[in-house]
Amino acid sequence: MPPMIGMETEEHISLRENVRDFVKKKVEPLSIRMDEEDFFPVELFKEMGRMGYLGVTIPTEFGGAGMDYLSQAIIEEELGYSSASLALSYGAHSNLCLDSLYRNGSKIHREEYVPKLSSGQWIGSLGLTEPSSGSDALAMKTTAFQNGNEFTVNGSKTLITNAPYSDLFLTYAKTGDDYTAFVILPSDEGFSRGKKFNKMGMRGSPTGEIYFQNVKLGSDRIVGELNGGKGIILSGLNIERIILCFIFIGIAKRALHESLNYSIERKQFGQPLYKFEMIQDKLATMYTKYETARIMAYESLKRVQADKMDALHAATAILYTAEISEQISREAIQIHGGYGYVKDAGIERLLRDAILGQIGAGTTEIRKHIISGALIKQFKENSRIE
Ligand SMILES: Cc1cc2nc3c(=O)[nH]c(=O)nc-3n(C[C@H](O)[C@H](O)[C@H](O)COP(=O)(O)OP(=O)(O)OC[C@H]3O[C@@H](n4cnc5c(N)ncnc54)[C@H](O)[C@@H]3O)c2cc1C
Repeated sequence: MPPMIGMETEEHISLRENVRDFVKKKVEPLSIRMDEEDFFPVELFKEMGRMGYLGVTIPTEFGGAGMDYLSQAIIEEELGYSSASLALSYGAHSNLCLDSLYRNGSKIHREEYVPKLSSGQWIGSLGLTEPSSGSDALAMKTTAFQNGNEFTVNGSKTLITNAPYSDLFLTYAKTGDDYTAFVILPSDEGFSRGKKFNKMGMRGSPTGEIYFQNVKLGSDRIVGELNGGKGIILSGLNIERIILCFIFIGIAKRALHESLNYSIERKQFGQPLYKFEMIQDKLATMYTKYETARIMAYESLKRVQADKMDALHAATAILYTAEISEQISREAIQIHGGYGYVKDAGIERLLRDAILGQIGAGTTEIRKHIISGALIKQFKENSRIE
């Protein structure tokens, strides 16, 4: 069934089939190892470049597949069904880094870096969070001092997806009272990597720290305008929140599928689990939440495609999707009973991965702050909400 009637073209349907086949053959066999060994499959990631997935939103003249955000969402959803961690690394590379670099970067960035990131020759990251600034991202301490045409960058970034492997960092620094986005490369003198974090979930998606000690950059490394970084951060976050929703839709779908399967196969008191009303209640509630989140995420995508996404709708979609993904994964463990608590069943991984949904791309609390703030503002202005 198409996600939203009338939304997917033949090209999207064929992309979904293609990704589903790739996931079944190449991702699913690795997903348990990725989690247990915290293993990032670099070659598989690069193959996603050759398949056209990494640069799916990038025009063909810059090495991409020339498709759209719906295509990127389809890839996220299908990857998320099998390996949320691969989907997270994909989102960080393809949306947070590559798509933003393409949208905001110069002709040189588009010609030099975008094709390498689209093909998978290079892996990319977005560096915003710092040791002392997460939710309060604009309190960053990384600075870029200007001297003529040269900038000297000092500071660090932490909890950065793909950092242990990345070849390019789209990074933010303070320039006076403002913010500027820069491209930083590991070959830049003064750049170094810190430790890789050992996480509870999203294992296999490498997360790390990076340091800048007197890194000298020419003005050709500025992404967008000098002092224009804040606009890039905020507009990127709205798109990123919607694309990341699809990882959590994928997790919720997997939890529901596994639960349906188990409730048909597992018998207690002489009958399959699905015959018990309390299990039926769980399945029906799980599906209703999943379907509501899915419709909300695809509706939000229409706003992204029309370039009309705003902070209120982006925060609302990711808030709900992340919450239901965690709730549905938790219920899936309950339906599987003791087996659900055992790693071999692969159910508890869904819950561990789903929890990231309430932390990354702005926490649940920050999303609620954005939503309530926007509602109060609208109501004060119009005495109603749209
Ligand atoms: C697996 C993973 C991958 C990540 N990938 C990236 C990446 O690629 N790039 C990147 O830049 N960052 C990345 N992050 C960082 C992520 O964006 C931050 O963790 C997140 O923004 C929260 O910041 P923090 O961890 O510093 O928490 P804090 O901001 O310190 O928050 C701690 C707690 O306080 C609450 N809180 C904070 N402020 C308020 C407030 N005003 N009102 C109410 N409650 C509040 C928060 O909601 C939270 O519950 C990643 C994180 C993880 C775990």
